[in-house]
Amino acid sequence: MQRIAINPDQIKDKLITLTSEQQHYLYRVLRLQKGDKFIAMDGMGKWWLSQLDNTDALILHQLTVETELPISVTLMVALPKGNGFENIVRCCTELGVACIAPVISDRTLLKPSSQKLERWKRIATEAAEQSERAKVPEILAPIAFNQSIVSFTNFEKYICVARGDSPHLLHCLQNQPDIINNSHNKSVVIATGAEGGWTEKEIEIALQNGFKPVSLGRRILRAVTAPIVVMSLISGISEV
Ligand code: SAM
Repeated sequence: MQRIAINPDQIKDKLITLTSEQQHYLYRVLRLQKGDKFIAMDGMGKWWLSQLDNTDALILHQLTVETELPISVTLMVALPKGNGFENIVRCCTELGVACIAPVISDRTLLKPSSQKLERWKRIATEAAEQSERAKVPEILAPIAFNQSIVSFTNFEKYICVARGDSPHLLHCLQNQPDIINNSHNKSVVIATGAEGGWTEKEIEIALQNGFKPVSLGRRILRAVTAPIVVMSLISGISEV
């Protein structure tokens, strides 16, 4: 069944007031007609079976969705070159990320324009619809590394470091079953660098702020690949 993301403010009693964009998508793109059913998702965990009624939709009943990871993961990603971040948003949304915090590190080359955030949010919404997620991940506005790194309290924190002898992320997570089962309600934040990696200074600041250095294996992954590997490892360990 077709799904669209709506804003919870659009719901009053049992009626969803559809925006003209949503009407266009449902009637013209999906070719649904009055009386047809679709799923409305509020992006915060709720899905409703709904029925088209001209410019509104009637809520028939709430649906149970259990497609979220048991653990809330924030990726702190130093922005890669070109459109690489769009790929990261799309793939990591499919893999269950809760929040992505783009950062500008010393070796970040990209200077994102202000319209980029809206585009990234749209990509996250579409990927959440497509992958049947209950929630749309939050995409934060890009900020400087030094600002972001101090902002995570009550998180289990890791920074991916491409070289050296850091323990593997998988090994660290296996030793933290409470985190994986979410029994302490503690979120995880994992930082990955841009093409040039982190500077020594950035790694030092991260460690001072409680981040533990981790490896993703023996090969050097591209800046776009690393966050996807992080999410693959986490979805594997927390869902199996
Ligand atoms: N030029 C950097 C270097 O030589 O260290 C490599 C940077 S890598 C292309 C981009 C980012 O992906 C790194 O900063 C790191 O966060 C992550 N990364 C890539 N491969 C990794 C690995 N094997 N283990 C941990 N992190 C990795």
